[in-house]
Order: sequence, then C-alpha cells, then structure tokens
Amino acid sequence: MDYALPEFLAHAVALEQEAADRYLELADMMEAHRNDAVSEVFRSMTRFSQMHRDEIKARVGAVQLPQLKSWEFRWRSPPETGGEEGFDYLIEPYNALKYARENELRAMQYYRSVAEASTDSEVKRLAGEFAHEESEHVAALDKWIGMTPRPSATWQDDPDTLPPVV
Ligand code: ZN
Repeated sequence: MDYALPEFLAHAVALEQEAADRYLELADMMEAHRNDAVSEVFRSMTRFSQMHRDEIKARVGAVQLPQLKSWEFRWRSPPETGGEEGFDYLIEPYNALKYARENELRAMQYYRSVAEASTDSEVKRLAGEFAHEESEHVAALDKWIGMTPRPSATWQDDPDTLPPVV
C-alpha cells in the first residue's frame, strides 16, 4: 500500500476509531458480567485508542482527508456476529482478550506493511511509529492473557458450543 499522507492518515483515524468502539463494547460486556479487572483493561485500551486517534487528528491539521471508499483494515467481527454465539464466546475474558490481541496484531501488521511499501518518507515514518505502538498493545494483552484462566474444559470439549475458527 503506497499511500499519500492524507490517505494514510484517513485510514489511521478510521482504524483507531473502530478499535476504540470495539474496546468500549468489550469493556461494557465485561462489566455486565462483573469482571471488573478485565473491563478496566478494555477501558484503558479504549482511552489509548481515543488518544491515538486524537493525536493523529491533530497531526492532520488542515490537511483535507479523503473519504474512504474501502478499508484495507478492519477489526475482525466476533464469530457469527448478530447471533448470540459471538457474544457468548466473548463473554469469557480469556476469549475477549485473545480476540482483541488478534486485532491488535492485524493493526500492527497493517502499519508495518504500509511502512514497508510506502515511498513517502513521512508515511513511512508515521506507519513505523504506529506499528511500534501496536506491538506494545499486543504485548500488554499478552500479559493479561497469561494471567487469565482459560475457559472451562467442558465448554471447550463440547464441539457444539465452540465458535467457528475464523
Ligand atoms: Zn492498538
């Protein structure tokens, strides 16, 4: 992806906004299930994404951003979105954290690929910086995943209740 700066900034703002929205959803979901510790993790991630979005917007300044017609990056939806299954699956803090990690990893890879492909030095620099920030988010989630018990064995052993692998 060889973006011009405005195109890249437009994608980055959209990406951070979507991450913030999803984190807020996950935070509320954890809170509803009385998992305050994991809820707090997602609330911090929400704030980080919002801060990042605002920093990028400040960086945009007077630059006119293009309307995005398509996305190269999107947060992956929970499995079977719309159905109950996706939400049931994410109610487990372990799964919610894994899901968030997968998306952070994709964001990191996205920024990294932009940094590699770009011929615009400012896009290259910013994308590299953002990739680094995402790698810190992945590391933070890894820490939490390491401290979070896996879902119960019965739940995992029953193939009928397993969400599809995406
Ligand atoms: Zn992130």
